[in-house]
Amino acid sequence: MSLLDELGQAIAGGTVEIVDLTAPLSSSTPVLRLPEPFANTIPFRLEEISRYDERGPRWYWNDIHTGEHTGTHLDVPVHWLSGKDGHDVSRVPLKTLVAPAVVLDFSARAAEDADFLLSVDEVRAWTAEHGPLPDGGWLLYRTGWDARSGDQEDFLNADETGSHTPGVSPECARWLAEETPITGLGVETVGTDAGQAPGLDPMFPCHELLLGAGKHGLTQLRNLASLPPTGVLLLVSPLPIVGGSGSPARVLALVER
Ligand code: MN
Repeated sequence: MSLLDELGQAIAGGTVEIVDLTAPLSSSTPVLRLPEPFANTIPFRLEEISRYDERGPRWYWNDIHTGEHTGTHLDVPVHWLSGKDGHDVSRVPLKTLVAPAVVLDFSARAAEDADFLLSVDEVRAWTAEHGPLPDGGWLLYRTGWDARSGDQEDFLNADETGSHTPGVSPECARWLAEETPITGLGVETVGTDAGQAPGLDPMFPCHELLLGAGKHGLTQLRNLASLPPTGVLLLVSPLPIVGGSGSPARVLALVER
């Protein structure tokens, strides 16, 4: 039997499970909120065209209003100045969209400290236990933040000093971008960077360094808790928006049970 026939049978039989890592997309999906003087994206919205009525007696359909960076979505290099000569979302290498992934669980640390920043030493300690980061694959960074994703205020966790959500240290972002073979970083928060990232050096280090290195970001993932640390195949399906800096995406994981 061929490899793909075996995979099809394993999925049908349940020995390979499909886990949906995508947040539902609706008008209540949390969106990023940048401080003044920066411009902001719109919330997702449906605009009804017809619904079995005089506008279309037998059919229902909508126009959608959305940002590229709304809900579970993919960031590509042109999103950032440092990656402006890189690819747009219509040109993402297909091997980035179907790729192995590992899951690093720092939810206990993030529960203690909402401003927790992942360090190089912590990733190195993880690889010493579980093996190397996947060549051309994804580092999925679990923080437990998906439990908050039903509520915009809880998710952004902002006060007068800005948003307080976990992220990655500038040193670790540089190391992931320049020294590791991953194609991207996936997170549970509203963006790949920490809530306090406007004040880090460089500002928004994951965006600056990973996108500047031709790599990618995936945000607002959920259900990472149900994945093993290794042995995950990730499927990412952004819209091929020509010239686009990112796109909402359905993200699925294949896991052997
Ligand atoms: Mn984004």
